[in-house]
Parts: sequence; structure tokens; C-alpha cells
Amino acid sequence: MGGNSGTALVVGAGVGGLATAIGLRRAGWEVTVLERRAALERYGTAFGIHPTAQSALDRLGLGDALRARAVPYRDGWIRRPDGTVLAALPLERIERKAGRPELLVSRPYLIDALLAELDRLGGTKIEYGRPLAGEAASLVADPATDQAVGRAAAPAPLPPGVDLLVGADGINSAVRTAHFGARSRPRRIDTVAWIGTAGFETGVYGETWGAGRFFGMTPVEPGRTNWYATVPEATTADELRGAFADWHDPIPRVLAETDPATWIRYEMRHLYPALPAFTAAGRVALVGDAAHAMTPNLGQGACTALLDAEALTRAVAERGPAGLPAALRAYGAERRRSAQRVAFASRNLHRFMSARRPALRDALVGLLPG
Ligand SMILES: Cc1cc2nc3c(=O)[nH]c(=O)nc-3n(C[C@H](O)[C@H](O)[C@H](O)COP(=O)(O)OP(=O)(O)OC[C@H]3O[C@@H](n4cnc5c(N)ncnc54)[C@H](O)[C@@H]3O)c2cc1C
Repeated sequence: MGGNSGTALVVGAGVGGLATAIGLRRAGWEVTVLERRAALERYGTAFGIHPTAQSALDRLGLGDALRARAVPYRDGWIRRPDGTVLAALPLERIERKAGRPELLVSRPYLIDALLAELDRLGGTKIEYGRPLAGEAASLVADPATDQAVGRAAAPAPLPPGVDLLVGADGINSAVRTAHFGARSRPRRIDTVAWIGTAGFETGVYGETWGAGRFFGMTPVEPGRTNWYATVPEATTADELRGAFADWHDPIPRVLAETDPATWIRYEMRHLYPALPAFTAAGRVALVGDAAHAMTPNLGQGACTALLDAEALTRAVAERGPAGLPAALRAYGAERRRSAQRVAFASRNLHRFMSARRPALRDALVGLLPG
């Protein structure tokens, strides 16, 4: 280590890992990214990008790429299953406060834009089909049981020649387990989420809240609608269609007219308990879901990963490799409590939205300001 550039190993090529690699490259660091998947799948539906995360993308040099394809999210309403409007989503308030609207962008497009920027900057090796190997990988949580495999780790050594190790490896982070132990780990919340994209614009946007389930629709690209649904359980597409069959138009139509083969189903999980630190040993940092995986209710998963990546790489760029421990302290101070507050609020919003007896909830929602 020396001069103004160091060597970083970023584990995970999702939004958080790619954005971190961009920030570090812009600061002149040598960066290698290890990605478990054999190739980056063009997979996923859409991300909401809050104005704060848009500013982070601006600082990473990606604001124009985002705005080239993202669409503004306006006119979103909270409705009852019969279509009655309960309240407005706070989109207008967000836009008024920030001076720009919440944006929606497709996940594959954002991933491609991040990859294109890394390519343009040059000098980053992305190694696909390379899960972080060795002790760290052997301690990853078993996705079938959510139990950490093996004992809580003694801190694993850093790979040779690496000044900074960044765990951007998502909710089952091997870096987290190896360097922060297995106490904080993914927990199920007994809710199944389904997401998909309809090949038409519904023109009806927002969220519909029923008893123990909800359905959301947002714009995403011309001619398409991003949708998401949560239910306590639904293992087949027919069960999901059945759960929303008598909800207001166009919900049944969205489910009837999209191909279930394109739907994505996952168990909703969050990281619990919250981590006491996002950094370890002055040389290891976690970003994104690895640090604070949250329920998707606030639509902040990608935003918080981008904010983490920008804050971490700004702190590192300002202090150089010799100042790495101070940079990681500054990163933790800027991001940990803030991201954990968002995760906590998202979990609480999930409980509120999924109330099984919705009368009181609906009355309270009706009192919300627009
Ligand atoms: C394929 C995919 C599709 C998604 N689609 C959506 C969507 O449509 N809507 C939505 O709201 N959210 C989606 N998400 C989740 C969303 O991307 C994240 O919640 C958020 O963006 C935070 O990103 P992240 O980079 O922290 O984590 P992630 O996006 O989970 O990225 C983590 C990356 O690390 C890799 N990885 C994991 N373990 C290892 C290891 N041991 N070694 C090396 N690499 C490893 C993973 O393969 C992945 O590419 C998706 C995630 C993935 C991975």
C-alpha cells in the first residue's frame, strides 16, 4: 500500500458492489470484483431511486445514465381492495422537498449502466463464477434454513495483497459471517413476495392494502408496468391469482396477462439483529444488503446500497490508503445508523401494511397528509 491508490477486493457484483467498484476506480484504486454467479443475469424488475440516491449516482458519474432511462413516479395512491382511495403516497412531498421526483428504473438497465461505467473507467477485473473462497465462503448461511453454517467466525484473514475488502455480497454475505460473526443473520418474516413486469401500462399506480396482503404497481418504462405483491403464503401462480381475484381493476388483469414464468417469488427476509458495526479491523467494510438487508416496503434496498457505496468510496478517496482506518470510521459514522433506521422503518411499515384486521389501519392512513 502506498501513494494515493490501494488495492481493493469487492465481493459481489450487485448494485452495491458495482457502485463501490466505480467509486474506488474513480479514486485511482486497483479493484477486483468477485461474483459468485457465472455471469450477470439480466434479472429483476425495478428499483425506486429516491432523490438522495440520485445525488449519490450523480457523484459517482452516473446521474445522466440514470435519467436517460428512468421514469418519474408521480400520482401514486394507497387504495382499498375495492378501489377506494385511502391516501396519496408521499411522492409529491418528496419531490417538493428534494426539487426532483422519485424515479423508477429497471434493474437490468441500472446494472448495465454500472457495468458500462466500470468498463469506461477501465482497469477493473470482474471475475465471474468466483464466490469468495476459503473460510469465509464455508461460513455462509444455508439458504434453505437461514442458519449460519459453522461456528461464529474468528475474523478471517484478508486475501494477500488486498488493502480493503468490501462485502457487497448480499443478504447471505460470506464476508459478514467471516468478519462480523453469525449473530446478525437473515430472518424470515413469514411473507412471500412476488414481483413481475406487465407488458402494458396500467396508468393506475400505487399500492392496494388488504387484510394481510398488498399489491403495488409503478411505472418503469414506456409500455410496461412494474408490479409486486405480498401474501402470507402462495406457492403457485394460481394461488397468487386467486389471492387477488376480487381486487379492483387492473390487478386481476395484470396477473392474468403476464406470463408466470417471468414472475420472481422470494421469501421476505431482513437482517436481525442490526450489526453493531459496518467495518472491521480498519480494512473490511460491508455495503448494501450485506450490511442491512431490509424488507422491500420502503423501496430503499437499492437506494441504501448506492448511498453506502458513495459514502464509503468518498471517505476512502479523501483519505487515501494510509488513512483507511479513519475512512472506514467516517463511513460507519455516516451510514450505519441512517441505514439501520430505514431498515427498522421498513420492517414496521410491513407490519402496518400487512395488518390482518385492517379497519384501524385504514382509518389511520386516511389521516395522512398527501
Ligand atoms: C439477481 C437479483 C435480482 C434482484 N431483483 C430485484 C428486483 O427486481 N427488485 C428489487 O427491489 N430488488 C431486487 N434484488 C435485490 C436488490 O438488488 C438488493 O436488495 C439491493 O439492490 C441491494 O443490492 P446489493 O448489491 O447489496 O445486493 P445484491 O443485489 O443481492 O447483490 C449481491 C451480489 O453478490 C453476489 N454474491 C453473493 N454471495 C457471494 C459470494 N460468496 N462471493 C461472490 N459473490 C457473491 C450475488 O450473486 C449478487 O450478485 C435483486 C437481487 C439480485 C441478486
